[in-house]
Amino acid sequence: MRLKDKVAIVTGGGRGIGETTCLRFAEEGAKVVVADLNETDVQNVAAKIKAAGGEAVGIAVNVTDRDQVDKMIGDAVDQYGRLDILVNNAGITADAKLEKMTEEQWDRVIDVNLKGVFNCSQAAAKVMTGQGAGVILNASSVVGVYGNFGQTNYAATKWGVIGMAKSWAKELGPKGIRVNAVAPGFIMTPMTEKMPEKVLDMMKDKSPLKSLGYPEDIANAYVFLASDEARFITGTVLSVDGGVVL
Ligand code: NAP
Repeated sequence: MRLKDKVAIVTGGGRGIGETTCLRFAEEGAKVVVADLNETDVQNVAAKIKAAGGEAVGIAVNVTDRDQVDKMIGDAVDQYGRLDILVNNAGITADAKLEKMTEEQWDRVIDVNLKGVFNCSQAAAKVMTGQGAGVILNASSVVGVYGNFGQTNYAATKWGVIGMAKSWAKELGPKGIRVNAVAPGFIMTPMTEKMPEKVLDMMKDKSPLKSLGYPEDIANAYVFLASDEARFITGTVLSVDGGVVL
């Protein structure tokens, strides 16, 4: 088991890539804190893990709310005594072309995808610094690296979390904390199911592998980067996108 007895928080763990990451982490021996907006979703994922013989707790949290985040991190540490891994996976889209994007759409995406990552990482880093060890992983996107039509706000945040990972790698490395970003391509989850089929077909065609990705592809990358196998990897962005270039 590659994450035996590590304590991991996965934000947005109630569905999609986050849910699969929680399940994979538990299979690898981690004690998992499923953190997400919806109470029913977090309890469902925690129950799935326990039914499979793993350890998990579900905590409902809005990552944009600093008080809720501080409480979630505090409750996780009370429950398991430490915090080894934070996966900043919670993220949203609110797409529109530049001319049509509203201030509300801009603010909402920035609030979850950037401020949420800041809130969770700042609280987690305090605990990890005290331990002298930890791993923080940020969910970026192929869209952050290349940009995308209609995604001004989302692209800004997904490029932003790469900058945050690189900055924190410099600040926190001397304290024993590794920080990396993962940039998924188009992955079949509730987020991408909203996209028109012709766009998904186009993405599939653009990949040299002629395939879209699945949540397991991303969860496996998180397992590797969270594990001690990645002990010499920090401040990087790992593309898991089937080689697609937008
Ligand atoms: P998803 O299926 O939409 O799941 C995202 C989860 O985050 C949902 O459970 C959602 O809760 C939760 N969430 C949203 N706002 C939150 C908040 N304020 N506080 C706490 N949790 C919140 O998304 P996904 O496709 O699995 O994507 C996961 C991450 O990977 C995102 O950061 C996304 O940008 C990134 N990514 C995805 C793809 C892709 O193709 N799917 C590609 C590149 C990057 P509710 O359901 O209750 O709203």
